[in-house]
Amino acid sequence: MIQTIRGFRDILPEDIALWQKIEKTASELFDNFGFREIRLPILEKTELFARSIGETTDIVEKEMYTFPDRKGDKLTLRPEATASVVRSYIQHKMYAADPVRKFYTIGPMFRRERPQKGRYRQFYQIDAEVFGVSSPYIDAELILILNELFKRLGLSGLKAHINSLGCPECRPVFQKALKDFLTLNYDRLCPDCKRRMEKNPLRTLDCKSLSCRKALENAPSTLGHLCNECSEHFEIVKKMLVKQNVDFIVDKTLVRGLDYYSRTAFEILTTSLGAQSAVAGGGRYDSLVKELGGKDIPAIGFAIGFDRLTEIMAQVKKSDEKPGLDIFIIAIGKQAMEPGYLWMSELNLAGIKSEMDFSGRSLKSLMKRADKLNAGHVLIAGDREINENALIFRNMNTRKQNIIPMDNIIKDIKKLLKKE
Ligand code: AMP
Repeated sequence: MIQTIRGFRDILPEDIALWQKIEKTASELFDNFGFREIRLPILEKTELFARSIGETTDIVEKEMYTFPDRKGDKLTLRPEATASVVRSYIQHKMYAADPVRKFYTIGPMFRRERPQKGRYRQFYQIDAEVFGVSSPYIDAELILILNELFKRLGLSGLKAHINSLGCPECRPVFQKALKDFLTLNYDRLCPDCKRRMEKNPLRTLDCKSLSCRKALENAPSTLGHLCNECSEHFEIVKKMLVKQNVDFIVDKTLVRGLDYYSRTAFEILTTSLGAQSAVAGGGRYDSLVKELGGKDIPAIGFAIGFDRLTEIMAQVKKSDEKPGLDIFIIAIGKQAMEPGYLWMSELNLAGIKSEMDFSGRSLKSLMKRADKLNAGHVLIAGDREINENALIFRNMNTRKQNIIPMDNIIKDIKKLLKKE
C-alpha cells in the first residue's frame, strides 16, 4: 500500500470543522484590522529563501526541500511565507501606489525537520505582514491581534514573549560583546555554535543544546546594548501591551531562528502541549525589502502554527465537553457480569448515569468504548479485582485512579464523585 511521505499527513474530514473555524475566525479578525488576503505559490527560487532567511540558519542549512527542476533551475518548497510576501510586494511594485500594506495568507509550508507530535514536514501557517510602518504601535497591534485571535478561539494559558534585537546601528556593538563572550567560552560551545560564532553569533543564544544553554547563561543581552531609538521603540511596544492587557514577558533569550529580524521579536508560547512550545512567532524586519531588491521600506509580520493551534483547541474541547455518561462499567469475565449489572442499575436508580457492556470483550476494547461514549469514569471489575475485593475507579479526564472495595461500592462512588 502506498502511504503518505514521512512527516506529511492528511487532514481528514472529521477534523476539518476545526480548521475551518480557525480560518474563519482569523480571516474575520484580519478583516477587522484592515488586512487583505494574498495567495502565493508554494514553489519559489531557492535563492529567495537563501538570501532572506539566511545561509547559516537551520532552515536553509538543513531543512529546505530543494531540488533542480527538469531544466536545472534550483527550486524550493517554501519553508515560510514572509520571503514570498516580500517578493510579491516588490515584484508587483505594490509600494508605488501606497507603501503601507497589510496582508495575510494561510497555507502549507515545508521543512525537513525530525517529525514528532506537533512538528510535521508539511505544516500550515497563518501569516500576517505589514509593510511601510516603522512605528512601534504597529508592533503592539500585531501582538494584540495574536492575543485577540487566541481569545476568540477560546484559548487561555498563552503568553507573549518579547525581545528587541536592535538595529544595524546598535547590533554590531552587541555582536562584538557577544563574540568576546563566546571566545572566552569557546570550549563549552557545541560544534554548530563554534561555527555560528563567526558568521552569526546571535544565533548561539537560541541554541537548543544543553551545554550551550549553560555556557550562555550569563551572555550579554541585546537589551543591554540598544541604541536610544531602539530603546524608545521597545518601551512604546511594552507600554501599549500593558495598556491593552496583553499578557507578556520580556525574554532576552528570544532571538528567533531567522536572520532578517530587527528590533521587536516575539513568540507566543503555550504549556498545554506538554513541553513549552511556540504557537506563533514573528518580528520586525526593516531591512529585508531593500535586501531583496526593493526600496527601503520597513516591515513586520508573524506566523501562527496552524497545526499546533488545532492540537491545543482539540484538547480544550475535550476537557470542556460534558461527559456522555457518568460511569462506564467494565466487567471482564463471568464473575463480574452479575454484580456489574446490579451496580449499574443501582447507580442509575440513584441518578448516576451508568452503562455497561455485556459482550465480554477485552479491557482494551472496552476502554475504547468508554472513550467513544465519552464516559466521565470507568469502574473496572475483572476476576482479579473481584477476588482481591479491590475495584478500579478511574477518572477519564484526570486519569486519577481510586481502588474501592465492593462492600459499600455505591456509597463509596457517591463520595468520590462528590469530592471531585
Ligand atoms: P517559525 O516560522 O519557525 O517561527 O514558525 C512559526 C510557527 O509555526 C511556530 O511557532 C510553530 O507553531 C509553527 N511551526 C514551525 N515549524 C513547524 C513544523 N515543522 N510543524 C508544525 N508547526 C510548525
